[in-house]
Amino acid sequence: MQSFEYLSPKSLKAALDAIGKKGLRYKLVAGGTNVIPDLREGTNRPGLVVDLGRIKTLNYIKDKNGKISIGSLTTIADIIRSPIIKKHAPVLWNAASKFAGPVVRNRATIGGNLVDGSPAADSAVPLMALKARLKIRNQKAQRTVPMERFFTGYRKNVLRRGEILTEVVFSKPPRRVKQLYHKLGRRNAMAISVASVAIMLDMKRKTCVDATIAMGALAPTPIRANRAEKTLIGKKVDIGLIRKCGEAAAKSARPIGDIRASAEYRRTVCEVLVNRLMCEGLGLEN
Ligand SMILES: Cc1cc2nc3c(=O)[nH]c(=O)nc-3n(C[C@H](O)[C@H](O)[C@H](O)COP(=O)(O)OP(=O)(O)OC[C@H]3O[C@@H](n4cnc5c(N)ncnc54)[C@H](O)[C@@H]3O)c2cc1C
Repeated sequence: MQSFEYLSPKSLKAALDAIGKKGLRYKLVAGGTNVIPDLREGTNRPGLVVDLGRIKTLNYIKDKNGKISIGSLTTIADIIRSPIIKKHAPVLWNAASKFAGPVVRNRATIGGNLVDGSPAADSAVPLMALKARLKIRNQKAQRTVPMERFFTGYRKNVLRRGEILTEVVFSKPPRRVKQLYHKLGRRNAMAISVASVAIMLDMKRKTCVDATIAMGALAPTPIRANRAEKTLIGKKVDIGLIRKCGEAAAKSARPIGDIRASAEYRRTVCEVLVNRLMCEGLGLEN
């Protein structure tokens, strides 16, 4: 590993000041589960490493004024332990419970998972279904970006030099909304998703009032299946419509083949997962 300067500030301001200087090659570290292997392998060669781990003000889960906010340094283990998340955002709780294994969950942060930006990032898919917004700060200002606009390409996002992701926030879904999630991996623990789907489903009797469908590992970034959502909204939902929804979701997928699965397998599985979750949400046989 090449040598670099290391800073471990205690405040967000100090961290922003450290990375705010022009022309600096820096790397932020949160839990380090992605960054440290990259530094070891030399994929990343920064002159300065800024460890955010001591900034306690970025580690929280709050339930206030109908909104749930999660500090970017909150770990996946903190999310699993949170009664707020378990009660109000089971779709996120479920995804966190299937994330890696306990050792990684104790270090991996929600902010690091989003910024690393893998198409299979397990927190991104439920957060997209929850229509979460991301708060981003630099030395001078704060901006807010909807989850859907955060990813700009494979492992790319809207973050600019000198910016830190500080918070994830979403409105508390009404209790009647069904929150459904499935991660398909090659095994149950310590497995990156082959495909994952999160669905928020708001029904009035048999009619779908609102639906959001988000998918992971099925395109270069986590995506919303907007066309599949449109097949449902305002319609009476039966098994025929569920099938159409599954087909529309598979059409919007742009999967690649890799060591985990072929592109064809991923597209097929996408349809199966959407069908299965919809049936689960409506108490129908698939
Ligand atoms: C064995 C193993 C198993 C894994 N299993 C899974 C899995 O099942 N599901 C899954 O989704 N991922 C998995 N991962 C990937 C990884 O653990 C996650 O992406 C993790 O959430 C990254 O968080 P971190 O805090 O460790 O990020 P870090 O490694 O510290 O940082 C990741 C990236 O984000 C940037 N960054 C971090 N925080 C901020 C911030 N607040 N603002 C701006 N930039 C920031 C860093 O500069 C870096 O580019 C696994 C990794 C390993 C090693």
